[in-house]
Amino acid sequence: MAFEGLSSRLQSVFSKLRGKGKLTEDDVNEALREVRLALLEADVNFKVVKEFVAKVKERAIGQEVLQSFTPGMVVIDIVNKELTALMGGTNSKLAKANKPPTVIMMAGLQGAGKTTTTGKLAKLLQQQNHRPLLAAADIYRPAAIKQLQVLGEQLKVPVFSLGDQVSPVEIAKQALQQAKDQNHDYLIIDTAGRLHIDENLMDELKQIVEAVSPDEILLVVDSMTGQDAVNVAESFHKQLELTGVVLTKLDGDTRGGAALSVKAVTGCPIKFAAMGEKMDALEPFHPERMASRILG
Ligand code: GDP
Repeated sequence: MAFEGLSSRLQSVFSKLRGKGKLTEDDVNEALREVRLALLEADVNFKVVKEFVAKVKERAIGQEVLQSFTPGMVVIDIVNKELTALMGGTNSKLAKANKPPTVIMMAGLQGAGKTTTTGKLAKLLQQQNHRPLLAAADIYRPAAIKQLQVLGEQLKVPVFSLGDQVSPVEIAKQALQQAKDQNHDYLIIDTAGRLHIDENLMDELKQIVEAVSPDEILLVVDSMTGQDAVNVAESFHKQLELTGVVLTKLDGDTRGGAALSVKAVTGCPIKFAAMGEKMDALEPFHPERMASRILG
């Protein structure tokens, strides 16, 4: 289960609060000290933790809260709302082009789950009666094109490919033309990832952006890598102006540091969450549901 480590720590802090009839300022301070530690242990960015705790404290220590009938519940509710706000507040929908196709470019480091997510997103769109076309523009990772083709066959979604000898920019351009010619309303471009961020990777991605003007630039990051994922998102966002982040491997992430920091650090909304290897394991990201899940 996602975030179970963080979740069980917060739940034990709050069960103590709930048990108390009246709360003093000291009780709240003590609970927030534990919340702070739990968040730091969950690998949430330290600045984000500091601001979060300060906000909760400001709202929780007023007389109105402390003298209410169920002060513990009120404090938990405040934490819930602030956690939701931290993860972006409301659900961020996928952009839609005025004139189809809507072009979605997928970016990310190798191994983050970009190709898998491309397939999953195609499946989600297909379930909503859209007609996606996939473009195989990751010409460097051996077998990436084949991997996308296999997913396409499995999902019955066409995959545009020109092999690995044509430039990704050219592949993207021709894929866009094909999407237009064949009335696809979405084009999802699977771009190359590298093991590390480097200039060549960024230049190539920028050229694709220039060539096809994507409506969405989604960065796929592995949530299990915690603050590394956040740093990756920050670097990509500086260069490419991402429109959203997709968090993968939440099924294996007991801590939750990336999910809780990436929006606050980069300003970029989390649009989707992936919780497994199967093609149906992708969901739109709902901050309020995630917060409630964490608090149990
Ligand atoms: P890419 O290099 O970014 O294109 O990465 P891939 O799409 O090939 O994924 C790398 C590995 O991560 C594969 O073994 C995927 O099955 C796995 N993977 C991707 N998303 C998830 C997820 O949400 N949960 C889990 N458990 N594994 C995932």
